[in-house]
Amino acid sequence: MDLKNNEPAPSELNRLVHLAPLEKVLNIARAHSLWPMQFGLACCAIEALMGTNGPRYDLSRFGYEVMRTSPRQADVMVVAGTITYKAAPFILRLWEQMSEPKWCIAVGSCAISGGPFVDSYYVVPGAKELIPVDVYVPGCPPRPDAVIDGFLRLKNKVLNPKVVEG
Ligand code: SF4
Repeated sequence: MDLKNNEPAPSELNRLVHLAPLEKVLNIARAHSLWPMQFGLACCAIEALMGTNGPRYDLSRFGYEVMRTSPRQADVMVVAGTITYKAAPFILRLWEQMSEPKWCIAVGSCAISGGPFVDSYYVVPGAKELIPVDVYVPGCPPRPDAVIDGFLRLKNKVLNPKVVEG
């Protein structure tokens, strides 16, 4: 088939082949294979993240269950728990070691805003003070369902980068 410039593709070809910008195709692949790096810092890591990954809630149904321990193998940092000023440089360093594109989910009140320890002299008032956060999962701790909802919101954000999630 010989298509000249500006010549519309035949309807048969249109029907069989979906042409899309490469970035859109890549985003579909990324959204369906997020590679999380869990940064468990306190109770939320156990109550929320481990529960989400366990057999009852089974995050693997969505394909996001393989928590990486290396930032070089991850594209989603999951910050779960209380961030102390002592731990802050490690979060920052690991975030910088993750390649682009990358996203962050803040799990629990502490990771969102410092939670019950916000007035403490040693607690960072939320992951957003260190790195850009894409999705916030509220709760102290959040239920595993809420963590799964957070992953699905991130999936939606990756698929539709221009849509602002609530
Ligand atoms: S939000 Fe609540 S459950 Fe989660 S780390 Fe803070 S104190 Fe613990």
